[in-house]
Amino acid sequence: SNLVADSITDNYVRLVPAAHFSYVNPITPTQPFLIHSSKEVADILNLNVDYIQSNEFTSVFSGTSLGDNSKPFAMNYAGHQFGNWAGQLGDGRAINLGEINNWSIQLKGAGPTPYSRRGDGFAVLRSSIREYLCSEAMHYLGIPTTRALALFLTGDDVMRDMLYNGNPALEKGAIVCRVAPSFIRFGNFELFASQGDLDNLKKLADYTIDTYFPEITSQDKQRYIDLLKLVTDKTLDLVIHWQRVGFVHGVMNTDNMSIHGITIDYGPYGWLEDFNLEWTPNTTDRENRRYRFGNQPDIMLWNLYQFANSLYPLIEETAPLESILTSFASNYENRFLGMMCSKIGCENHNDSTHKLVYQLLECLQLSETDMTIFFRLLSTVNLQDYPDSALSKISPAFYLPNEIDGSIKERWLNWMEDYLKQINSQGVLDEVRKVKMNAINPKYVLRNYMAQLAIDEANTGKYEMIDEFFELLKKPYAEQPEMEKWFAKRPDWARTKVGCSM
Ligand code: AMP
Ligand code: MG
Ligand code: MG
Repeated sequence: SNLVADSITDNYVRLVPAAHFSYVNPITPTQPFLIHSSKEVADILNLNVDYIQSNEFTSVFSGTSLGDNSKPFAMNYAGHQFGNWAGQLGDGRAINLGEINNWSIQLKGAGPTPYSRRGDGFAVLRSSIREYLCSEAMHYLGIPTTRALALFLTGDDVMRDMLYNGNPALEKGAIVCRVAPSFIRFGNFELFASQGDLDNLKKLADYTIDTYFPEITSQDKQRYIDLLKLVTDKTLDLVIHWQRVGFVHGVMNTDNMSIHGITIDYGPYGWLEDFNLEWTPNTTDRENRRYRFGNQPDIMLWNLYQFANSLYPLIEETAPLESILTSFASNYENRFLGMMCSKIGCENHNDSTHKLVYQLLECLQLSETDMTIFFRLLSTVNLQDYPDSALSKISPAFYLPNEIDGSIKERWLNWMEDYLKQINSQGVLDEVRKVKMNAINPKYVLRNYMAQLAIDEANTGKYEMIDEFFELLKKPYAEQPEMEKWFAKRPDWARTKVGCSM
C-alpha cells in the first residue's frame, strides 16, 4: 500500500512524525518454547497441523527467524487514556510480521520498538496466558475479538513490579502470536488528526475503507461518514456482547478500540462474578471507576466521539457525525433491553418485559449473585413453579444465601412472581425456552480465578490447565458434565483477587 513508513529503521524510542509505522525486527528469544497453539486459528491461516508442531513454526512465530517476505513493523498510533489525551503511543510491545490469508499476524512481547516509551517491549507469562485463553474464549462465545495462534515462552526473564507485594521481581517472558483482520485502532486516526496531517489522515482512511470496508461505495466526504457509521454499528454490537456475558475490558482507551469492532488488548480485563455494575478489574482505576462494567456503553460512545473528531477534518460538517453518534445511545437502550429479554427467555419486548429487566438489574445487585450461574439456572425455572420454588432453583447463584431474607427475599419473590406471570403468558414450552436461553447464556467463562490457577501451574512448568481451559471454553454454551467443577462460584480465596495488567 502507499502508507508511509518511518524513514529510520533503528528501534530507539522516539516521536515518529508523518509515518504510519516503523520497520523493526523482533528480539531473538533465548530459548523459544511452544506452550500451546490453536489448531482452529492455524486453519484460518491455512497452516496445517504438522506445521504448527514443527520447529520452524516455533522459530517463525516467536520471532526467532523471519518468514519469507516478512518485513516486520510496529504501528504508530496515539490515543486518549483514561479520558486524557496521551499523544503518540504506538506498538510498544507488539510487532507485526505481515499477513497470511489477509490476516494480520502480530507478536506481543517480542521486544522494544520506537514506541516502547518507558516500557521494555516484553510481556510476562501470566499476562500472556490471560490474553491467549481469553481471546479464544471470546471467539467461541460468539464475540468479535482478536484471535490467538500460539503462546510461547521466550526463555528470557522479564523484570516487573508484582501486583500484590509491590517488589520488582523477575518473571518468565512470553509471546502471544495474535491474529486479526488488522490492528488499526481509533488511535491511528487520532494520531494524524492531532498533528494536522490531513494527507496521511486521508491515506489511512482511504486504505481502511478500500481494504476492510469494500461495502462503502460512496464518494468524497460521504465515504468517511459511512466509515463512522459502520464502525459505530460494529462497536455497538461489541459492547452489547460484553454486557451480555459480563466481560469487563478494564482499559477502554481509544488506542485499544479496533476499527473492526473486535475486542482487542486483553490486559486487566475481568469477568463479573457477582453481578455489580460498579465493578472494574483494573486496580489503577479504582478511584474514578471509569471503566466499570455499567459504564462500558457510555465509554464506547465517548470513544466514538474521539474517532468522529479525528475524521472531522475529512468531512468538515458536524451534523451527519452527530446524528450517527446520538443514535448510538437510543439504539443501545433498545438493543440492551432486547438482549436482556432474550437472556431471561422473554419473547415479548414491551413495557412489562422491560420493567422485568430493570427490576432484575436491581435484584441481582441487592444480593451478591453470580451472573453466569444465575442466568443458567434461571432456565431451569418451569411454568408450573411458584415464586418460592423458582427462587430456590436460582439460590445456588447467591454468594451469601443465608442473607437472602427479609426485604431482599421479598424483592426476589416479587420479581419471580412477575417473571412467572410473564413466561406463562407467552405460551412457550419450558423445554423450548430453556434451549433458547442456554444458547445466549454461557455456562462456562474464564473466571478470574481459573486464569490464575492456570498461571500458577504454568509458573511451575506445567501446562495441562491451559489446555483444559482452552478445550472447555471452546463450547461455552454446552453442558459438559465432566467439567461441572468449573460451573461454580468463585472460591473465597479469590474474592478480592483482580485481573493484572502488565
Ligand atoms: P495498554 O495499556 O496495554 O493499551 O498499553 C498502552 C501503551 O503502552 C501502548 O502503546 C503499549 O504498546 C505500551 N506498552 C504497554 N506495555 C508495554 C511494555 N511492556 N513495553 C513497551 N510498551 C508497552
Ligand atoms: Mg493497548
Ligand atoms: Mg495492553
